[in-house]
Amino acid sequence: MSDLRAIPKIELHLHMEGAAPPAFARTLAARKGRSIDALIDPRTGRYAWSDFSSFLAAYDAVAALFDTPQDNRDLAEAVLRECAAHGVIYAEIFISPDHAGADPVAWAEYLAAICEGAAAAEAACGIVARFIPLCVRGLGPEAAMRAARLAVAAEDPRIVGFGMAGDERMFDPADFAPAFALAREAGLKLTAHAGEFGGADSVRRALDALGLDRVDHGVRAVEDPDLVARLAREGVPLAVCPGSNVALGVVPDWAAHPIDALRRAGVRVTVSTDDPPFFDTDMTREHEMLSRHFGYGPDDHLALARAALDAAFCAPDLKRRLGARLAAA
Ligand SMILES: [Zn+2]
Repeated sequence: MSDLRAIPKIELHLHMEGAAPPAFARTLAARKGRSIDALIDPRTGRYAWSDFSSFLAAYDAVAALFDTPQDNRDLAEAVLRECAAHGVIYAEIFISPDHAGADPVAWAEYLAAICEGAAAAEAACGIVARFIPLCVRGLGPEAAMRAARLAVAAEDPRIVGFGMAGDERMFDPADFAPAFALAREAGLKLTAHAGEFGGADSVRRALDALGLDRVDHGVRAVEDPDLVARLAREGVPLAVCPGSNVALGVVPDWAAHPIDALRRAGVRVTVSTDDPPFFDTDMTREHEMLSRHFGYGPDDHLALARAALDAAFCAPDLKRRLGARLAAA
């Protein structure tokens, strides 16, 4: 286990609030005269929930704690220190303009705060972070356009992409094409959650409508051999989160997860944790489970990190520096 922890890793699919370390969130809640003890399993120290609605309720309750710039600064530092403790040297983190109320002043304060927290984590642990603002699919195309405008208006080199999360059963990817086009014209790379609760067709429609540079999850592409062949042929990277998929019942268990089948089919697969303390996981555990269920050894783990670096949205000079750190491992 300790060897796997030390292997350098690149994480591409991680939601800021969803990664809030429970002990950190509990301390912050206490400082605000609130308690989230009912949301934390005393045995594991992770967030506790029993079904999809109680997961969403727990997630919202934790996310609601971070309501000042100082909270968000501290959250960014805590999340990145936790990543670094599992060998992550570079993380692209999803942030939500909607959490800042889609207000340009609050958004600018929020960005300044998380960048300050990220700088503190980098100074302490060497981990580098970049950010991907997300629109929320269920809020609809107009809200997505507002999110894209905020992402673009920030003109911050630490914002490297634009993405979409949320309920895949709501709206069609094509409804969001204008927001994604705006982000692309401004030079941001594009990603979207698809093929998690939606089937293979949700991946195909997102690719066709949005011109994605990579896909978050995408694992249900495995249900359609033609789509798997297309992903391999076009070199579309998938930011796969197996522990999340197991926890939310997208697949029955780890052994049934399609990550290895997709990788063997030539798809550019990468590994991330999504909302790790909600899914009883972290980057060490993801790699440990890949070893246990698919026989992955050190070369496989490093190959996954290299694949993630290739698929990262950051500037070429940073990629070269991170590549040198992977090569030294
Ligand atoms: Zn996600």
